Amino acid sequence: MTEIWETGSPEETWRIGYDMGKCASPGQVCCLDGDLGVGKTVFAQGFAAGLGISGPVNSPTFTILQVYEDGRLPLYHFDVYRIGDVEEMDEIGYEDCFYGDGVCLIEWSERIREILPETAVHIGIEKDVERGFDYRRITVR
Ligand code: ADP
Ligand code: MG
Repeated sequence: MTEIWETGSPEETWRIGYDMGKCASPGQVCCLDGDLGVGKTVFAQGFAAGLGISGPVNSPTFTILQVYEDGRLPLYHFDVYRIGDVEEMDEIGYEDCFYGDGVCLIEWSERIREILPETAVHIGIEKDVERGFDYRRITVR
């Protein structure tokens, strides 16, 4: 099943993340893919708010993993843009995150495709300049 949303502002993308965060269940792994600056982190911020996380959520680019534990469920926010080898994921202890009772959000998940669970939800965000600078198409499958 594929769902497609179209947004025209960061707030709308945030809101879609928020609604998904509200509905997220333990063990859910959400993969977030799309080019640099497309809105993955905006979506993640909404998602975190939907889980009831109050602190600021930024792209954890330099740490790969950021854990937030003050929401309804633990949130494991990955940004694997800078990962060199999937073995680095072992060092981080990703299995405890992917197969635990929290929720995972993985920016640039395609870079670790071989270790993604089959049950993962894939969220792709794309621009279409012909539809305007702030237009985004969000595909969930
Ligand atoms: P990424 O994490 O994918 O690299 P960010 O979420 O950090 O991207 O940044 C997205 C940028 O695009 C922000 O500056 C945001 O304000 C802007 N933006 C403009 N329109 C949208 C939209 N419809 N949805 C999400 N972000 C948007
Ligand atoms: Mg980001």
